[in-house]
Amino acid sequence: MSLESLLREGLTALGLSPDAAELMCRYARMLLERNRVMNLTAITSEPDVARLHFLDSCALTALADFHKKTVIDVGTGAGFPGLPLRLVEPSLRLTLLDAQRKRVDFLRSVCDTLELPDVDCTQERAEAYAAAHREQFDVTVSRAVAALPVLTELCLPLVRVGGTFLAMKSVNCDGELSAAAHSIETLGGRVRQVADYVIPCTEIPRRLIVIEKVRPTPDAYPRAFGKIKKNPL
Ligand code: SAM
Repeated sequence: MSLESLLREGLTALGLSPDAAELMCRYARMLLERNRVMNLTAITSEPDVARLHFLDSCALTALADFHKKTVIDVGTGAGFPGLPLRLVEPSLRLTLLDAQRKRVDFLRSVCDTLELPDVDCTQERAEAYAAAHREQFDVTVSRAVAALPVLTELCLPLVRVGGTFLAMKSVNCDGELSAAAHSIETLGGRVRQVADYVIPCTEIPRRLIVIEKVRPTPDAYPRAFGKIKKNPL
């Protein structure tokens, strides 16, 4: 099946308009092309990019509301899950944040090509970015960046009270979730839902941990990354 057909089938299965498949194809081809000369993703076949990057990202639309939300994707890498979400939900106001310059440069070129001038692509570490953007987002989302006790300190300070932190994890994350209980509580969060789903057009199970922000994060957090890593809450 072609890249576009696979994306169309997956988007339709999610109850989304398949029209976004065309822009996703352009983005996927830019990713695979650029990946030949710089390391952007370990996923290198068109069907795998369609399923494991695009459809996994879009699957979140069945589990969370992104309409008119301010969303930050922390450690977005080559743009996942944030950019596919923006393609299927144009009202979403998106910031793509990553520590690596080459990845952010790639994202800027994708946003230029797809004519998405409103997407903010920023190169900075999340714990530093929080100094000027604390509690400013409705939703923080993150996939494949760090274990949950560390990830929570990178992500939860950016979420406004009443907003949500969405952590995309494997289904084997029970230990991580238990280990993060103290971190989530200390940083002002509460686990609202642990939602299992299957990536469309696959049999691959995935898990979304939905953490609501119920109190402001104390000013002492986030700490410098060395401290977060050495001594997770
Ligand atoms: N989220 C993408 C995905 O699922 O395909 C990329 C995952 S990649 C394995 C992890 C990314 O997180 C890298 O691009 C890295 O630069 C970024 N990263 C790690 N720690 C970070 C931090 N503290 N602040 C911002 N970005 C970070």
